Amino acid sequence: MKPINYRPAKIEIDLSAIKLNIKNLKATLAKGTEVIAVVKANGYGHGDVQVAKAALEAGATQLAVALLEEALKLRQAGITAPILVMGWVDPIFADVAIEHEITLTVFQSSWLEQYYANFDRQKKLAIHIKLDSGMGRIGLRTEAELKDFLTKIDHRQLNVQGVFTHFSTADEPDTDYYQQQLNRFESMLKIVRTVIKTELFVHIGNSAAALRQASGLFDAVRFGIGMYGLYPSAYIEENRPFKLKPALSLKTQLSHVKKVEAGEVISYGATYQTNQAEWIGTIPVGYGDGVQRKWQGLDVLIDGKRMPIVGRVCMDQCMVRLDRAYPIGTEVTFIGQDGDESIQLEEISAHLETINYEVACLLTDRLPRAYLDET
Ligand SMILES: *Cc1c(COP(=O)(O)O)cnc(C)c1O
Repeated sequence: MKPINYRPAKIEIDLSAIKLNIKNLKATLAKGTEVIAVVKANGYGHGDVQVAKAALEAGATQLAVALLEEALKLRQAGITAPILVMGWVDPIFADVAIEHEITLTVFQSSWLEQYYANFDRQKKLAIHIKLDSGMGRIGLRTEAELKDFLTKIDHRQLNVQGVFTHFSTADEPDTDYYQQQLNRFESMLKIVRTVIKTELFVHIGNSAAALRQASGLFDAVRFGIGMYGLYPSAYIEENRPFKLKPALSLKTQLSHVKKVEAGEVISYGATYQTNQAEWIGTIPVGYGDGVQRKWQGLDVLIDGKRMPIVGRVCMDQCMVRLDRAYPIGTEVTFIGQDGDESIQLEEISAHLETINYEVACLLTDRLPRAYLDET
């Protein structure tokens, strides 16, 4: 049963945009390069299960998340595709992964020892080995570390399926550090291949790398932000191989409209004062929904026109300056298209001095998600 929504505010996710972005990416990639759809953090705020299903339908072959919880949620929704947990999972929970056929990321000799110590297992754990080629986050970093790790691999208890790394500057114009990371990865991969003789599924590229180059990406790309129709950076946007289509819009309605005399003040702190008599609209969305206080000064779209958010954003509401009176219930667009005007996450993240990834992730569950083109 669908939840009943009383509030006039919702996030709409156009799954056909997700599918289009994947199809367009696949058309540019070297033949045989697979797409791993990255749906961590509730699909970057878009809804992990719905996005995962759409992505698989569009030709993604695997899914990736950050947490074991996120992988289990996908399994509980009936998704049977391979799922990789890219983050660190405590070895005491390895059996949960085995039971639900979830692949874990492993990169510590001590992790292997703890995993072997615990149980007498019937089934093997599937793993991808993570190499830290220069991101400095997780992964085996030195040759000595890697060699020690490889000697500890027990093929009776582990199914080593893949090897991967992650780039820290794939979205930037300068490619020097990317190349350095690639070189380090390739030499580490050679060492892995001297020990592990079974076929390995190798993946290195995120959206930025995937949008930037069609080849040299090994067996798959991990497609996150681009799948949602968002650009990894302004540089990638300028040099895109095709136009991405954003999937998310955030719409609500005017809940109150009033005329305010000149010199009156609006919202907490009385920081906004009217210059003249103005029409002020109230919107029933605030920072409790992820529309942070720093959104003050951004515009919303009403009747295909931009109207500024004025005064402080409250937890559940905010105010806008209107160009005239509008009826209560008039549609208000925070993110998305209205007529010829559009406000995309990139405009908002630039104003907030952050990245679109973060703005999308911070839209809270209090905003109901509605899906277009769901199958
Ligand atoms: C989040 C993540 C990705 C996806 O990155 P995008 O820039 O969103 O494409 C890929 N790989 C790893 C390891 C990640 O953590």
